[in-house]
Amino acid sequence: MEKVKYIWMDNKYLPWKEANIHVLNHTMHYGGGVFEGIRFYETPKGPAVFRLHDHIKRLFYSASCLDMKIDYSISDLSKATLNLIKKCQLKSGYIRPIIVYGYGKMGLNPSMATVNVIIAAWPWGSYLGDKPVKVMISKYKRIYNKSTIPDAKITGHYHNSILASLDVKKQKMDEALLLDHEGILAEGPGENIFLIKNKTLYTPKKGSILPGITRDTILKLANKRGIKTLQKSIKPSSIKQFDEAFFTGTAAEVTAIKSINGHNLKSGNKTSLTNQIKQDYQKIVRGDLVLNKKWLSFIEST
Ligand code: PMP
Repeated sequence: MEKVKYIWMDNKYLPWKEANIHVLNHTMHYGGGVFEGIRFYETPKGPAVFRLHDHIKRLFYSASCLDMKIDYSISDLSKATLNLIKKCQLKSGYIRPIIVYGYGKMGLNPSMATVNVIIAAWPWGSYLGDKPVKVMISKYKRIYNKSTIPDAKITGHYHNSILASLDVKKQKMDEALLLDHEGILAEGPGENIFLIKNKTLYTPKKGSILPGITRDTILKLANKRGIKTLQKSIKPSSIKQFDEAFFTGTAAEVTAIKSINGHNLKSGNKTSLTNQIKQDYQKIVRGDLVLNKKWLSFIEST
């Protein structure tokens, strides 16, 4: 990760070296923090953050799931994000807001701990590379949806993603695909999945997944383009019937999937629907294709 000039922490723009938290902070020990991943892009009107409000709104929702008391509003953190990018003189990259339970009384109930709000931003290229990825269904199941709140972005959920990622790397695959506790397709370690059959997009329904903001963008894009979408249960045994598949996520953007468990897909072809969607997504995030005027927050407007 590239070092940047400042990190926003508890309402201060701190130099990189000074943005530290105590080793006894509660979240590091127990995984009870919440975070976001947001991207900003160069556009003809200067750098702009994609769906900033939606991400910060989800951050507050996630924080409310852990009863975190935050001293700031959605608008405060949105403004701080835009200002941070400006102060760091960044043009495009990734933003990581994270809220942690800080140093306080040890023990699983975090209510006596302080709450620290941190925002960092840095330049970041593509997450899974530009080539179509080879995917393997993980031996690790996605966390049981009744053991947690799946639509909250809680740090502790990611031990499950780490295990799945380490395992597929050992098998020389690019990315994992996790099934839910019933053996139905859920999502990647940090991405949602779409599959394509007869020009229709299929994606796992909500319940055991983090319903991504990119997933929502793609569903709205499909609607605009007249592409049919279905949110439903997809069994691994039905993967053979699909022609294409792709991952979506803020970091992964739209990443074509080359194969799943050895079943080859045509997603990487220039003429594929996946490729059209990928191109459209790149236009949307840069303001060249407008589905919703509120989706871009320009840095200069702060
Ligand atoms: N699922 C998981 C588990 C994730 O971590 C992410 C990344 N935030 C996604 C899906 C995609 O979400 P989004 O499109 O909002 O980045």
